[in-house]
Amino acid sequence: MPEQKPYRLPTTVIPQRYEIKLTPDLSAATFAGEEKVFVQVIEPVRQVVVNAAELEFQAVSIKGPGGKVVRGDAALDIENEQATFNFPETLNPGRWELQITYSGILNDKLHGFYRSTYKDPNGREKTLASTQFESTDARRAFPCWDEPAFKAVFQVTLVVDEDLTAISNARVLRQTPLSGTGKKEVVFADSIKMSTYLVAFIVGEFEGTDPVMVGNAPLRVWAVPGKGHLAKFAREIGAFSLGFFSRYYDIAYPGDKLDLIAIPDFASGAMENLGAITFRETALLVDEGKATRAELERVADVVSHENAHMWFGDLVTMKWWNGLWLNEAFATFMEMIAVDAWKPEWRRWDSFTVSRAAAMQVDGLKSTRPIEFPVERPEEAAGMFDVLTYEKGASVLRMLEQYLGPDAFRDGIRLYLRRHEYANAETTDLWDALEDSTRQPARALMDSWIFQAGYPLISIKKDERSLVLSQRIFRYLQDSDIPKREFHVPIFLRAGTKQGTVNQTVLLTDQELRIPLPEDLDWVVANAGGHGFYRVRYSPELMTAVKRELQSNLLAVERFNLVNDIWATAQAGLTSLTDYLDLIDLLRDETDLNVWTTVIISSHHLYRILDEVQERLFQERIRAVFNSALQRLTWSPREGETELERQLRGELINALGTVGEDKACQQRARELYTQYEKDPTSVERNLIPALVSIVAHTGTSADYEKFYSRFKNAQTPQEETRYLFALGAFRQPDLIDRTLQMTINGEVRTQNAPYLMRGILLNKDARAKAWSFMKEHWNDMLNKYPDNSIPRMCEGIIGLVTPELEADVREFFSRHLVKQGAKQMEQHLERLHIAVACRERWKDLLRG
Ligand SMILES: [Zn+2]
Repeated sequence: MPEQKPYRLPTTVIPQRYEIKLTPDLSAATFAGEEKVFVQVIEPVRQVVVNAAELEFQAVSIKGPGGKVVRGDAALDIENEQATFNFPETLNPGRWELQITYSGILNDKLHGFYRSTYKDPNGREKTLASTQFESTDARRAFPCWDEPAFKAVFQVTLVVDEDLTAISNARVLRQTPLSGTGKKEVVFADSIKMSTYLVAFIVGEFEGTDPVMVGNAPLRVWAVPGKGHLAKFAREIGAFSLGFFSRYYDIAYPGDKLDLIAIPDFASGAMENLGAITFRETALLVDEGKATRAELERVADVVSHENAHMWFGDLVTMKWWNGLWLNEAFATFMEMIAVDAWKPEWRRWDSFTVSRAAAMQVDGLKSTRPIEFPVERPEEAAGMFDVLTYEKGASVLRMLEQYLGPDAFRDGIRLYLRRHEYANAETTDLWDALEDSTRQPARALMDSWIFQAGYPLISIKKDERSLVLSQRIFRYLQDSDIPKREFHVPIFLRAGTKQGTVNQTVLLTDQELRIPLPEDLDWVVANAGGHGFYRVRYSPELMTAVKRELQSNLLAVERFNLVNDIWATAQAGLTSLTDYLDLIDLLRDETDLNVWTTVIISSHHLYRILDEVQERLFQERIRAVFNSALQRLTWSPREGETELERQLRGELINALGTVGEDKACQQRARELYTQYEKDPTSVERNLIPALVSIVAHTGTSADYEKFYSRFKNAQTPQEETRYLFALGAFRQPDLIDRTLQMTINGEVRTQNAPYLMRGILLNKDARAKAWSFMKEHWNDMLNKYPDNSIPRMCEGIIGLVTPELEADVREFFSRHLVKQGAKQMEQHLERLHIAVACRERWKDLLRG
């Protein structure tokens, strides 16, 4: 028998059905609860142990198989967030009915059952209540078996003011006015059998779209009054992706309706509650006529991601939190497939390379972690909501899908879902299903990627007779303790020969693999198609050939990988920075958005590292490259241009006017911004973020006032965050002070304030001030901000690139531990250390 962990619930009593009736009081920020739980007692007990936090119990009783009612009392264990109900007599095996009367609070920490506030179109302050239960906060709303494997049916009743809308996981069965009270009782149908973290209740004033039928389920989008007109785009991708997934999975949508609801205060991006998905407003509400392509893509991504979870996560759920990665990696993977099918012209898999690169950056650290690791206490799962779970997880699934073939992969997924529907599964169950369905060794291949941290750097060279492939782990820091790990690496090769192009896929499982040299080899690309989660290092001879073929024979994703790998190896000290800058010089004819994105990200990174003299020399150099790319695109949209080209124009101008410090560009951007203010339709929408960020970068107090007012009176969620975050990009000390104050004075929602703070830390002119401010107000920030945002805010410390600041940062965090994100904090500190080491290594490089 394994030892019983104090925070895990005993399995002597199993819940089967909950009937929950809640009466929230929005103005008093409390709620009253009545709960019945139909349970199966497995062995004789006198105690029933459940999870509960911040709840007060008024009465507890249990009704036996014969109808006899036994009264009990409740004892709380605050540390383990449990309540033990003690009964004066033994409960024998069989079906019992637990009855609990209790009360709780609507908190302001954006978890459990919480309050969110907003101003209605008449400027009146309004309150609504919503839930966020993942991972372990359902226990703040109702006593429950708050572990994912205790699946049960939920029947919810909400008693709310007559004029309010109430939403839960299932369809409304009936609404009955409660005469004389001004309230109504809203009774919902039974949910499917599911985990507690997926239960949801939303109560407030809402505007809903007309329903659109997807199979048998009506789908609606909801927003607070005045914002309903921003729901059309989400309704469209919502309906498309739900239909798409029911075909991909070959299983009908498991719910009886689907509501997508925008909540003004929301800690993460969205939450996949079955049938009642909640979102932050920027991830759901958007004005198609005003938003940029990137902003539309974000809404399409998040909606598709959450819809994918209705099956992967909700219908089939992980047994315990160590399996969280599979939920999230898979939903991220499916999000790409659905958006790619919806708008192929967006080339969603190409832009996924940017996300993959972000995961490879963290995974190249000594402080990385395997995708899956043992999770004991559920809080440890909080540290799993990161780039390794989502982006690395999705990347390795994509690599597997490409290796097995998309249809074979899909068939394995179907088998997995059928086998485990309405139940729970582990990672190995997926590999079993894939192996049964494809007869290929999926498990051996995937184990090396899921249970080992990091990824390989693949070296490729040729000798007389062979191509020689070898692997070693990639690390930014060249410490002596780099481990020897071998991965099962599918290597996709494409070679140019005198006879034409040859494709070949080989599996590298050992240190080295030799394959026969293609006859008359001209050039070869390793990681062809760009799906591999590894970096490639070409021998000098092969590299020369690849560079020569850059624009003629390499796909955009392959050029992206080449640039990104050389930038990474330069930071690791394996290549010189000059090699990287020379490669950028070759990109004057480059037309791909993602290739430019990686160049622009690295430029900002370098700009933060370099001192003033180097900064100017570097800027001269990148100005030339950016300008030549922009000359071809020009400042005005042309007939027949793609949306990606429009976005690229915006990105290039943005980079040129900020990190490139190009005076002519800055002036033109200001003129255009003035024109935009007079006539918003006169400027192409993908250009606007660039204009806003250049005006902030070069901005005066008068600009600041203007932006501040636009933030306060924004027409769309995207505009609100655009101007808010722009306030963190101004550079005069007094303006920086004002924005810093806004992070804690209540003017900025706590869902955004931590990210504003992160932005100011990354602003080179503001970073020292921002760091002092953050240290001074640390406790205040911890109290106010959602827990999950603290490690994300702290990512900003990677901008504090001087040896003095680094030392101070280390000292501070040695005394102030961020428990909910210890691993992420370690990673931020290492990234800062790498940047400081690069600063040292490159300090004389660009001078005269
Ligand atoms: Zn997700």
